[in-house]
Amino acid sequence: MDQETFTILLDTVRRFVDERLIPAEDEVEETDAVPEAIVAEMRALGLFGLSIPEEYGGLGLSMSEEVQVVFELGRAAAAFRSTIGTTVGIGSQGIVIDGTPEQKRAWLPKLAAGMVSSFALTEPDAGSDAASLTTTATRDGEEYVLNGTKRYITNARRAGMLTVMARSERDVKGAAGVSAFIVPADAPGLSFGPPDRKMGQRGTVTSDVVFDDVRVPAANLIGGVPGRGLKTAFKVLDRGRIHLSAAASGTAHRLVAESVAYAAARKQFGQPVAAFQLVQGLIADSHTDALAAWCMTRDVARRYDAGEPVSRDVAATKYFASEALGRVADRAVQVHGGAGYMAEYKVERFYRDVRLMRIYEGTSQIQQTIIARHLLRDAGLAI
Ligand SMILES: Cc1cc2nc3c(=O)[nH]c(=O)nc-3n(C[C@H](O)[C@H](O)[C@H](O)COP(=O)(O)OP(=O)(O)OC[C@H]3O[C@@H](n4cnc5c(N)ncnc54)[C@H](O)[C@@H]3O)c2cc1C
Repeated sequence: MDQETFTILLDTVRRFVDERLIPAEDEVEETDAVPEAIVAEMRALGLFGLSIPEEYGGLGLSMSEEVQVVFELGRAAAAFRSTIGTTVGIGSQGIVIDGTPEQKRAWLPKLAAGMVSSFALTEPDAGSDAASLTTTATRDGEEYVLNGTKRYITNARRAGMLTVMARSERDVKGAAGVSAFIVPADAPGLSFGPPDRKMGQRGTVTSDVVFDDVRVPAANLIGGVPGRGLKTAFKVLDRGRIHLSAAASGTAHRLVAESVAYAAARKQFGQPVAAFQLVQGLIADSHTDALAAWCMTRDVARRYDAGEPVSRDVAATKYFASEALGRVADRAVQVHGGAGYMAEYKVERFYRDVRLMRIYEGTSQIQQTIIARHLLRDAGLAI
């Protein structure tokens, strides 16, 4: 996208966040849903197609451009970004990165136009250890038959299609036996559990996805070659973690702004609490965390676009940005005093919402193991 067009897009998204999304946050919290009118506006703005190449009807943003848009969306309640998040990120990117030309032509234009997609990797007994997944995909003529259960799948109940990781090579243990499939959400035998009851992020939806003899054409095997599904999933997650780091950076900046505004307005001992240096320390530490997260995110996005191998530093960025956001949210509650504990003030909500960032798309501990594994391998140590 040329710089001028991108600047207009970014300004439009910034205004959309300030004028439409932030004012609708209370409604989302009360109704546990993003208003349909806002979802329609997101479609019209092209937000579902941010990462889909222009030849398939998307905006075709680079990662460096995508993080700037996602940063803006991250300034509002998590439910808004989550509405487009799986389609822009983990749900579609398996096809964008590793799909065959036919798969791209068949699915990407629909996703760019606003069809929701989901990414179904996690299972009841396979979370961090994704290679141990047990959902099966059994070849039967020109079809695969899927059986198993996926857990905590974001947007599954809203999806038109899912990218599903399943074991197609029964005799091959671990990652090499897993393939990725495109599964239409209305396929016979596919059903969803009830919406999960969560700590926060009201307006987002996760659920189980159950596969009971779900038949998909063999042509829906992503890339057309079996046994490469987890490789695809890890490429998708590398990209997804940059996207999440941008969202975390945006939310951290919002919480700094909320903290400054409250500290300036709230008076104790005859002066704004912002005048107390201990409160200034909380705010300064939060700004420093937010800035560092954003600098890391932009740097790793630029290097990703340049084609550098960045998996180690993607993990470091997701680890830092999500943990930093946790600290920022905690300090924001502290700056608000008792009001920070009350639902009426938004920091209480963000405090609960951001907890997820340290868990999904790889927990902080998994990011630590990735970082260390890279460093040790580079030092010649096979661990
Ligand atoms: C709201 C929500 C939305 C989600 N959306 C999706 C989705 O759309 N698609 C999807 O596929 N999944 C999704 N997930 C699943 C998410 O990615 C997993 O919950 C996450 O990867 C952790 O897996 P687990 O819950 O099984 O935890 P476990 O793997 O059981 O981990 C438990 C604890 O052990 C630690 N641990 C595990 N292994 C190691 C290790 N090797 N070294 C050190 N510590 C370790 C973990 O860090 C954690 O502290 C979602 C989860 C939530 C809560």
